[in-house]
Amino acid sequence: MITNETTEKFRKLKLPTPFYYYDLEVLKTTLDVIKKKASESGFKLHYAVKANHNPRILSLIASYGLGADCVSWNEIDAALKAGFRASEIVFAGVGKSDNEIINAIEADIFCFNCESIPEMEVINTFAARLGKKARIALRINPLVDAHTHKYITTGIAESKFGINTWELEEVLKKLTDMKNLELTGIHFHVGSQITRLSVFKTLCNHINELQEWFSVRNSELKIINVGGGLGINYDNPEELPRFDDYFSLIRKFVDLRPGQTIHAEPGRSIVGQCGSLISKVLYVKNGTNTKFVIIDAGMTDLIRPALYQAHHQIENLTSAGETENYDVVGPICESSDTFARYIELPETRRGDLIAIRSAGAYGEVMASRYNLRDLPQVVFSDEI
Ligand SMILES: *Cc1c(COP(=O)(O)O)cnc(C)c1O
Repeated sequence: MITNETTEKFRKLKLPTPFYYYDLEVLKTTLDVIKKKASESGFKLHYAVKANHNPRILSLIASYGLGADCVSWNEIDAALKAGFRASEIVFAGVGKSDNEIINAIEADIFCFNCESIPEMEVINTFAARLGKKARIALRINPLVDAHTHKYITTGIAESKFGINTWELEEVLKKLTDMKNLELTGIHFHVGSQITRLSVFKTLCNHINELQEWFSVRNSELKIINVGGGLGINYDNPEELPRFDDYFSLIRKFVDLRPGQTIHAEPGRSIVGQCGSLISKVLYVKNGTNTKFVIIDAGMTDLIRPALYQAHHQIENLTSAGETENYDVVGPICESSDTFARYIELPETRRGDLIAIRSAGAYGEVMASRYNLRDLPQVVFSDEI
């Protein structure tokens, strides 16, 4: 909640807008809950750093004992600096560069989540050159539709992600000759902002079939990694994600074999609700049929609405007047720079403070300098 007291502080301190406001209490509560629920269900978690790599947020998450799921060497480096241990870092991504692979082998990270045979060959070559053995997991394309936006659906047939099941026979054959790779398990990720939990049940059924396939071939898997993707409720920024339902459902439907551990890589569900983008109203402008609230935050600060037609709850923190309908737009020279259309807000005026809620995930990390704009500022709840 952004209380009146907090809003007063924003005003008094004349904090320059736009800025990301991170409520550390919300993040701690979320971490307390996810940690408890994960340990009750026997999950090892690796936080998906790409959702938010702000150093303070990373350190707080590291202090709760989670591992890190990274998609670039720079993310691994940031995770290490924030206190995550190399032995608890996994490295995913379809296009790992040579330098990234070499750095990660030298850092002795826990595991590479491999997405293709050519990638395995390259990791094997560099590991041999460095006289090391690299642990890998196979990211398998599970052919599960995530029922989410197409840009964040990753596990369908013509997806660039993951190894297709028809290629697995060859993968195992090649692995026997790749002496510097050690297969630890299998990894999946079907998409993001998944709110239909049945999607994860379908994933579990595929995992069970694949487990059979591997066991027939005497290939031992120590780790089953279900990836990330648990959605949050953008309509209710105060609501915590359904961690309990999510972990229990997976434990119920996935057949773990003796000695196996289950891993997950939540990103959005950990950091989504702790962040809000705070912006100031520059102008209220009349269109032919529409009233536009033009704010000083744009798609360069939060691109999700422009990129995925994402919905965020928008609140006017400084007005309690009669409501009217407005389009809330940014200043960028693109029509897609629209945060919401025809939403009800209390009567809004120049100078009002606007909060765009549930912006802790894929917000600050995706900011750009298009139009040569400044990057958004960051304010933590314990700084004001
Ligand atoms: C993006 C990603 C995640 C995190 O997804 P969320 O939807 O933010 O939980 C986890 N694992 C992999 C491999 C990813 O690419």
